[in-house]
This record gives sequence, C-alpha cells and structure tokens, in this order.
Amino acid sequence: MADDDDRGRRDEPGWLSELLAPVAGFGVTFSTMFTKVLSEEYPEGPKGKGPKATQPRYHGRHQLNRWADGLEKCIGCELCAWACPADAIYVEGAQNTELERYSPGERYGRVYQINYLRCIFCGLCIEACPTRALTMTNEYELADHTRQATIFTKEQLLAPLLESMVPAPHPMVDGATEKDYYRNEVTGPTEAQRAFAAERSDGRDDVVVPARDTSVSRHAKKHKGATA
Ligand code: SF4
Ligand code: SF4
Repeated sequence: MADDDDRGRRDEPGWLSELLAPVAGFGVTFSTMFTKVLSEEYPEGPKGKGPKATQPRYHGRHQLNRWADGLEKCIGCELCAWACPADAIYVEGAQNTELERYSPGERYGRVYQINYLRCIFCGLCIEACPTRALTMTNEYELADHTRQATIFTKEQLLAPLLESMVPAPHPMVDGATEKDYYRNEVTGPTEAQRAFAAERSDGRDDVVVPARDTSVSRHAKKHKGATA
C-alpha cells in the first residue's frame, strides 16, 4: 500500500536546490550576457558604417532599365501586371512614332506604376518581363506617410541615365532592329541620336544631351550609315 501512495510523488527539493533555483532560472540570460552581440544599430549601422548591406539578390524596389543608347527597355506589354499576384502594377502602353520613340520596336510603356502598399516583393513580375526591362534593386527604405507617396511612377522607377546615354525620345541606332538591341549589340548612342536629342532639347533645360564619349555601338560599326 505504501508503494501505491508514493507513486506519482516527487521528492521534496533540499535547501540547496531551493537556494540555486533562481540562478538556474536565469541561466540562459546569464550565459547570453557574455556572448557576441549580433544586433546592429539602425540606421547608423555597425561602427557608423551605415545599415548592413542586403544580400546581392535581395528583392527591393523595382527599376525600369534602359538600353545602352538611352532608349527604354519596357515595351508596355503588361505581362508584369498580369503576373503580379497582388495587382500592384499598372501599365499603359502606347505606340512609338519616328518623332516620339522611347523604346525599340512598336510600343513603349507610357504609364507605369507600382503600388508598394500592395507589393509583396515576390519577383514574379521580373520573371514575366520579356525584355529584362524590370529588375529589382536592393533598396528597401520605402515607407512613407501617404498612400500617394508609396505609388511609384515611371519617372521614379526609370534607371538613371548613365553618362554616355542620350535621353529618350530619339530614334533607334541607324540600321539596327529590335533583335540587335535584345542581343546587346547596341552598346552606346550614335552621333545621329545625339544630334536628334540636341535638336529637341533646344531651349529645354530638362533635357541634357551628353557630349560625345568613347562608347561605341558594335552594331553601328557594322552599318555604314551610323557613326559611333
Ligand atoms: S514583386 Fe510580386 S507583388 Fe510586387 S509588383 Fe512584382 S509581382 Fe507584384
Ligand atoms: S516591364 Fe516588362 S513585362 Fe512589364 S510592361 Fe514593360 S516590358 Fe512588359
């Protein structure tokens, strides 16, 4: 009978166990006090070096890329918008003309918006883009105070013009086709493109046509009509 009564009962702790119980309870806390601190200050970063850099393939703010001569890669096809599970992208395409050409081929993205209140940074849109016009940067500081400020427009998303690029609109490289652009055979603007943009920019200080530089269009070299 005595065995049955003791079944399920634990031994009473001794006075030493009771004394050390709080220390044991804080054991994990005490042990982590002497390990290396992994948290980083924000936005100062470790030792004042700024916030920790993201991984190279981090999915941050989008960017609409340009070809080497400054024309835009976006052709306004809306495939990115159809692929988006959050319905965060709005695109309106328009027809290129000889005087208003923004991209190689027939069409360009006239209106392009991404709503960063909806975007979940899944990257499906960049997978869907047929021209690699849309990619994602490492920029992640996108919070703002108004809904309007978190809807990025085409002007905000367009990649900055590199020094050698000529701002669109301007014609394609003489003799080049869309395929030449897609094969990356156009590696810089031609004199004809600079002259066209310079003529259009006459009196406009929002259009800056870069001076001739050393960048050479491989495609232009192949065509006598174009000078690099
Ligand atoms: S990253 Fe995903 S959620 Fe964001 S715009 Fe692209 S497809 Fe839509
Ligand atoms: S970003 Fe790409 S997928 Fe989206 S409209 Fe432009 S070309 Fe089409």
